[in-house]
Amino acid sequence: AFTKCMEEGVPYDLELEIITAKGNRRWVRAIGQPHYENDKIQKVFGVFQDITDQYLSQMKLEAAKNLAEQAALEKANFLSNMSHEIRTPLHALVGAVDLLQENFPRTDQMELLQIMKFSTKNLMNLVNDILDFSKIESGKISLEAIPTDLREILKTIELTHQITAREKGLSLQVIIDENLPRMVLADMTRITQVINNLVSNAVKFTEQGKVDVMISSKILSEERVLVCFQVKDTGIGIPEHMQNQIFHSFTQAQSDITRKYGGSGLGLTISKNLVKLMGGELQLESEEAKGSEFFFSLEMRI
Ligand code: ADP
Repeated sequence: AFTKCMEEGVPYDLELEIITAKGNRRWVRAIGQPHYENDKIQKVFGVFQDITDQYLSQMKLEAAKNLAEQAALEKANFLSNMSHEIRTPLHALVGAVDLLQENFPRTDQMELLQIMKFSTKNLMNLVNDILDFSKIESGKISLEAIPTDLREILKTIELTHQITAREKGLSLQVIIDENLPRMVLADMTRITQVINNLVSNAVKFTEQGKVDVMISSKILSEERVLVCFQVKDTGIGIPEHMQNQIFHSFTQAQSDITRKYGGSGLGLTISKNLVKLMGGELQLESEEAKGSEFFFSLEMRI
């Protein structure tokens, strides 16, 4: 660099390791500029700065950062592997309980089987959530773009939640914009997962009134459409100071939620991340004791 500066006038600014006359290793920053006299380079002006301390602490920081990143990745992998491993025996348990229920159990056994069924189902949901959560954390989720009929998705979701809604005396309504294109390119599984989570929460946290699921659309061009999804309920609502928090993992709006309603507090974290991966933002408007509205928009190819 020095020669180049002397010969061609190219300034330099570099960090290098040197060995001092006493044999010590130091890190220095060397800066140099050519000095012209009569249009000819006569000297190089520069600074030689000992940056050893700064360099070493930067190295330490980098090592700590790499270690932390490695640890986070290992944690996510561990969670992902464990939830996979737990799922296999759990499937067997679910199957066995189903078979036992079909095998004319005694009334006292029936009650126990009901408890087992309820718990295995909860456990399965939890394990699936953890699996998704760890996949998102380790960046292992890849999205699909397959021809999708959004009306079909909503029909299935309505069927899935209608029974619970009716049992609670709630009206569950699906409202679809007439102009919504018949087919779009989207990740059907992930969209279903997000809306399922939102509708299941809406039904869970609403004691009376209704749950509306709405899709509206805005055609952007011949090939593209903006689709807006809304899930609105007349339930317990979410206090303002918790409206950001509930999107964090394992967070619920009140401490008695798990006891009263179950759940793990992972659903919204997963949904928010999935919507983000699909290019949207999951948002919320809510008033305590009045209800909540979750909504997001996604641009899709027609
Ligand atoms: P879970 O439902 O398993 O607790 P979520 O991440 O889906 O986890 O939701 C987190 C928390 O957000 C819930 O525990 C609840 O406190 C609050 N919440 C979510 N949806 C609603 C809703 N529609 N109405 C009221 N509270 C809600």
